[in-house]
Amino acid sequence: MTLVDNIERSAREHANRTAYMFQGMQATYDELYRQARNVAGYLSKKGVGKGDHVALLLGNSPHFLISYYGILLTGAAVVPINPIYTWKEILYILHDSRAKVAIAIASLLPTFEKVKQTLPNLQEVVLVGGESEHEWTSAFEKMIAHSSEGWRRPDITEDDLAVILYTSGTTGQPKGAMLTQRNMASNADSLAKYLGVTANDRFVTVLPMFHVFCMTVCMNGPVALGATMIILPKFSPVEVAATIREQQATVFAGVPTMYNFIMQTPSIVPDDLASLRFCISGGASLPVALLHSFEKKFNKVISEGYGLSEAAPATAFNPVHGVRKPGSIGVNIPGVENKIVDAEGVEVERGQVGELIVRGPNVMKGYLNMPEETARTIRDGWLYTGDIAYMDEDGYIFIVDRKKDMIIVGGYNVYPREVEEVLYEHPKVVEAAVIGVPDEKLGETPQAYVVVRDGSLTEEELKTHCRKFLAKYKIPDKIIFIDELPKNTTGKILRRALRDKVLNQ
Ligand code: AMP
Repeated sequence: MTLVDNIERSAREHANRTAYMFQGMQATYDELYRQARNVAGYLSKKGVGKGDHVALLLGNSPHFLISYYGILLTGAAVVPINPIYTWKEILYILHDSRAKVAIAIASLLPTFEKVKQTLPNLQEVVLVGGESEHEWTSAFEKMIAHSSEGWRRPDITEDDLAVILYTSGTTGQPKGAMLTQRNMASNADSLAKYLGVTANDRFVTVLPMFHVFCMTVCMNGPVALGATMIILPKFSPVEVAATIREQQATVFAGVPTMYNFIMQTPSIVPDDLASLRFCISGGASLPVALLHSFEKKFNKVISEGYGLSEAAPATAFNPVHGVRKPGSIGVNIPGVENKIVDAEGVEVERGQVGELIVRGPNVMKGYLNMPEETARTIRDGWLYTGDIAYMDEDGYIFIVDRKKDMIIVGGYNVYPREVEEVLYEHPKVVEAAVIGVPDEKLGETPQAYVVVRDGSLTEEELKTHCRKFLAKYKIPDKIIFIDELPKNTTGKILRRALRDKVLNQ
């Protein structure tokens, strides 16, 4: 079972079905496969093959889909990168992954001009939506027009790397989760079976395609089935509702904030969503009140599930047709086991709180170049999620909190340490701690507590400093200057104590 087998099977069995729709244009599976083969033929000619890594810095578009499968057909692995990252963030990932080629939106050309010299492995940058004079750039149009005649794809096995997903985990420094063909394909397959989706389904692909939630649920899943992807470049509640109505979409997957935005838009009426068979929520906890009000207003089921990058991503879901428990992430999906353990790794009794660990064909191979982090995270074949949870008598899992203090801003992950590092780079900052505070619209926003050398630093000055290094959603919403931060006896700053104090105010 590989992603490559999936696209080849759909090209054979569903050749004339619509694979994707985007801004008025569409293509069948036969066309998508041909486009991906052209990309593969072009990249192979440039020396890309098994063992290589190709970075993908694109927003939601057919270019992403075609490039992704084109890269996979060469036997190389895809390194998806959020294109709104700053050049420092992009540089880190390109460097760590030793990407040989990057396929990127043309607006990132100045970033590549800045970093290209420091990346000896990066041979070529394929630009989408523009061209340049450099000998190391080329245009996407040229790549997709390349004839794949005579090109033969290499043998690709289940153990070959398919994707390297950068995720920060506990240490703040992004780590590349290595996901194999088996990891990715098995998760798409388990979910499709569990949720009962078929070739007749029409998915709204509006979550970011570079994030594993979208990649598995709204891209690899539909490709494996021969279903249709209706790709939207960005989320707007009105546009999503109009798309569902006009294109008769049957499945919508979103993060809780998207459901919130849809609920907050009075012009969206139940008729708009009438064609949906069900909705999927994941990535962060879905507030129970929101679940109830959405289901009541639209008369649609939301199935909440859970996952993480290291598990490709899904491990548990609420059934669409069986018992759904609000506030729960559901039960094991086929082939995947979830267990709650104590600090020693021993399974706790039902109802007891502990760390959620998971096992299955979806669990990553490890972190790229980080054997120690890998050994810490995967023990005896079990992936330690860092999430605190309990399981009820019926096997339904409830996430209590995140052990790793990660902040999720409208579905995007923000790691406090990364923001703190930037704050510390300001010469006037003595100490900094970042926590997530509840936000009605985004779920959470980062809030910074900062101790400064003298009182002359303003909140705006510090935010301007952050903007130089961090993507917009990582900038603290509020910066509070205080005299001292809570610490334990060894001097470690206690973010949790700060958070408890703020929440209890
Ligand atoms: P990522 O690796 O970016 O997919 O982030 C994974 C993390 O998102 C998990 O470790 C959880 O902390 C969080 N998460 C995902 N789904 C849920 C959910 N349904 N409820 C609560 N937290 C979730």
